[in-house]
Amino acid sequence: MNKNFEIKDIALAASGERKIAWVREHMPLLRALEEKYADLPQGRRPLDGVRLSLSIHMEAKTAYLCRVLAWAGAAVSAMGCNVLSTQDDVAAALAKGRTAAQGKRDHGGRAISGISVFAVHGESQKSYAKHVEMCLAQKPNIVIDDGGDLVGMLHTKRRDLAAEVWGGGEETTTGVIRLKALESEGKLMFPMLAVNDARCKHLFDNRYGTGQSVWDSILRNTNLIIASKAVVVAGYGWCGRGIAMRAAALGASVIVTEIDPVKAMEARMDGYAVMKMSGAAPLGDIFITATGCKDVITLEHMALMKDGAILGNAGHFNVEVDVTALAEKAEARYGARANIETFALPGGKRVNIIAEGRLLNIAAADGHPAEIMDISFAVQFYAALYVAKNHASLERRVYDVSDEIDEIVSRARLAAWGVSIDKLTPEQERYLRSWEV
Ligand code: NAD
Ligand code: SAH
Repeated sequence: MNKNFEIKDIALAASGERKIAWVREHMPLLRALEEKYADLPQGRRPLDGVRLSLSIHMEAKTAYLCRVLAWAGAAVSAMGCNVLSTQDDVAAALAKGRTAAQGKRDHGGRAISGISVFAVHGESQKSYAKHVEMCLAQKPNIVIDDGGDLVGMLHTKRRDLAAEVWGGGEETTTGVIRLKALESEGKLMFPMLAVNDARCKHLFDNRYGTGQSVWDSILRNTNLIIASKAVVVAGYGWCGRGIAMRAAALGASVIVTEIDPVKAMEARMDGYAVMKMSGAAPLGDIFITATGCKDVITLEHMALMKDGAILGNAGHFNVEVDVTALAEKAEARYGARANIETFALPGGKRVNIIAEGRLLNIAAADGHPAEIMDISFAVQFYAALYVAKNHASLERRVYDVSDEIDEIVSRARLAAWGVSIDKLTPEQERYLRSWEV
């Protein structure tokens, strides 16, 4: 049995196993990869001999991705990418593995050995940093990162391990921005694929995934009605568009704040009010940030808000809403409901913060739906195969995922829905290529 893990409690595995079985039912693209690779003999699998380290929210969909990578031959070590999103029962199931009989009983597929997992819900930053090092201790050839914690460690404290890394994939917008900053300073030590920038990733995951899971989190945590409320969405990028669209569908009136004039125009054309945060602050009932920026909602904005305003963040990291300044200024704070803390400011005004200002859809809910992560993780899987196959010819750059991968993944998703689409005739192809009428 695998003994190389640090998790909360291995006895939680049965509950985690059921969660993984549930998402597996709804992840047809990963399931097809499981079917394709799991029964191939060792030596014929595409990731045989490859050491792969992964840092993505440690919940059921990620666990299933880890298993599919292992079935394709990789030696996987895994951790979360946010101390609040780790689900301890899922980490336990992944670390323990299961027999074929257990898999059959749970409708969870075939047997699988335990995987090295280093993740504990709510652990300290010190413990999290130790787990980054433990996850990298197997000297990975491939890294799969979400936000840059593995890559960050490989470029600072554990630069000695970077020579072994062939490359990897980055899951989220902010992670890609950081990789490009490293690249532009000439400091990137291995090639990375910008998985987030693949069309099959951000068009669906950032927009529809965040659009749904943010409202899932707000609904389950507040138990309040959205219709009749004013919702302020900061940032009209891929995530912001989805959050605003679903807020409107729930009956809210939506206000968008932006810094990019074109995105601001787009929000206005989509039917939303657009204004500065200082103008939106007194109007909003619920505020959601999705910018990847810092200080988007400051104490000055909070001073303008209605008593009892609800604030949450969906962007990378807990600096979009200035929770630190709020905590310093507050005269009292108390837990109002699970995942909601109320801060009382001098003068009596109260501000409610969901999930400590960390990504509310993952830290205080289950993140994106299984069908969405199926698409994103299929892109990650093919990106890993690409690195394994082509690393010798890759440079220390940030690469786009190939159109071919987008095509494979989108066709597989359409096929799983039973949807077929038209194909250009040779005559149409000629027409589209020619300049003559
Ligand atoms: P994006 O680049 O498409 O959009 C960000 C938008 O925010 C841009 O339009 C930008 O102009 C705007 N912006 C930047 N600073 C601003 C400010 N101070 N005030 C108002 N608007 C501002 O990025 P995206 O793909 O939408 O991702 C946004 C963030 O969410 C990133 O940090 C990303 O990593 C994260 N993300 C979270 C989830 C999730 O599940 N919660 C999913 C995907 C991405
Ligand atoms: N470490 C960062 C992570 C950014 S999270 C932080 O804690 O701030 C944003 C990414 O989470 C998205 O790109 C999305 O692909 C991923 N995500 C959303 N829901 C998920 C889920 N249920 N399981 C795994 N990853 C998920």
